[in-house]
Amino acid sequence: MRFEIITIFPAFFAGIFEHGIVRRAQTEGLVGIGLHDLRAFTHDRHRTVDDRPFGGGEGMVLKPEPLARALKSLGIEAKTGEHECDPTHAVNSHSMEGAPASEADRRLGARVILLSAQGRPFTQAVARELAKVERVVLICGRYEGVDERINELYCDMELSIGDYVLSGGELAAAVVVDAIMRLVPGVLGNEASGEFESFGAADAEISTDEQGVPRSQHGAGGLLDYPHYTRPAEFAGLRAPDVLMNGDHLQIRKWRREQQLRKTLKNRPDLLENASLSAEDRRVLEAMRKEGAE
Ligand code: SAM
Repeated sequence: MRFEIITIFPAFFAGIFEHGIVRRAQTEGLVGIGLHDLRAFTHDRHRTVDDRPFGGGEGMVLKPEPLARALKSLGIEAKTGEHECDPTHAVNSHSMEGAPASEADRRLGARVILLSAQGRPFTQAVARELAKVERVVLICGRYEGVDERINELYCDMELSIGDYVLSGGELAAAVVVDAIMRLVPGVLGNEASGEFESFGAADAEISTDEQGVPRSQHGAGGLLDYPHYTRPAEFAGLRAPDVLMNGDHLQIRKWRREQQLRKTLKNRPDLLENASLSAEDRRVLEAMRKEGAE
């Protein structure tokens, strides 16, 4: 998989992708990241990338021509068919220039994303879908944003990393790259580990590990993760839960599920609406709600 980041501050990314899993994914050749300096696609002496907004008002706007040239250099042409695509749909109208026309390439293609506070929320579900794509092109806005025609002509989706305004799309791009990359097959040591994290997929079938040992974890099914503990068993007068130390996988699994439900109910009750919940989960939640109300 490859990420292409178009930015006026390529140096911003120095260091960000040089640690841990993200670095390993690159050195192992599972993922590549290209940084593209928008100013390299200007033709004037001042390397101008911005201009005043039509209609007046505050700030400056990133001009369309350098962005269009930067995209063209990546083999991305203006869209011909439908405009914005559903992020849960892995097909798009861009193809990779020069790429072999195998069925897989046609299916996976490239997605062009505009980072924007006005975008749809970037969630783990969107990250999971984008992890199936061959190439993700990220456009980082600055100032008041990007000339809207770039969005209309080239972008498959606008993504926001949260309900706040950043000064540029670079931090958002780094977040998006990190979250997607760790879901690319082979990047995390254990293939299934993405399922057992906050917002992970449901796991009705995953009840034993590869050795047939009962799993002590549930696929999150859209819930938050459970709390984690490690040695020492006692710290600052607080003991790690005994249930985690008795080796009974089914007990541990039950405790962890309850904790997932408890955390989600406390911190993100909105997630419960779309979570995959069993009848037992619902019973436990009901008991927790009553407990809270008393
Ligand atoms: N005028 C814009 C608005 O009110 O929505 C804010 C522009 S912001 C100062 C500059 C750039 O930062 C945006 O073009 C976008 O690329 C990036 N940005 C800001 N907030 C973001 C967010 N929550 N998610 C993703 N990108 C964001």
